[in-house]
Amino acid sequence: MKLMDAQQLLDMSPDADWPERAAAKVVAALLDPVARPALLALRLSPHFTLRELTASATADARGLVNMPDARQLLALRYLCVSILEPVRARFGPVRVTSGLRLFTPDSQHGKGEAADFEVPGVANLAVARWIRDMLRFDQLILEAWSPGAANAGWVHCSARPDRARKSVLRTPTGKAPYFAGLPA
Ligand SMILES: [Zn+2]
Repeated sequence: MKLMDAQQLLDMSPDADWPERAAAKVVAALLDPVARPALLALRLSPHFTLRELTASATADARGLVNMPDARQLLALRYLCVSILEPVRARFGPVRVTSGLRLFTPDSQHGKGEAADFEVPGVANLAVARWIRDMLRFDQLILEAWSPGAANAGWVHCSARPDRARKSVLRTPTGKAPYFAGLPA
């Protein structure tokens, strides 16, 4: 499958049996190591590619192929459309530091429902507050944030079409313990 064909499927062309069967076709093409490099340029939404949402130094180091199944592909697409695109429209280009992580199956990253990101030049706290107040999300975590260091840490956000807990947490370290809410 060529990139354009895959993009047409993902863009919900009238001929595509969207969503599940279209996603399954894209996923099957991704299993082909020859076709995969070109397909990584697939846009999950207007400004976010499959490459950005699947890149993982940890997966590379472990020799794992960090590619989504159909369900995860649809979840990643929903995350891009409902969270990353609005954040980009409000603040500017977003740097995704971690999206899908097949090696953490119990986290929302493992399901394709969460991404870690930053907006270069914008305080993570400002981004997190805007998401909290403006978007429909499942869980939002301000990670490794410390007062006085506006660029420290990153924003973790998850989204699902069928669930929006609007859980908001913060952690000074990037791992447990978590505290409720964002810093005042
Ligand atoms: Zn995360």
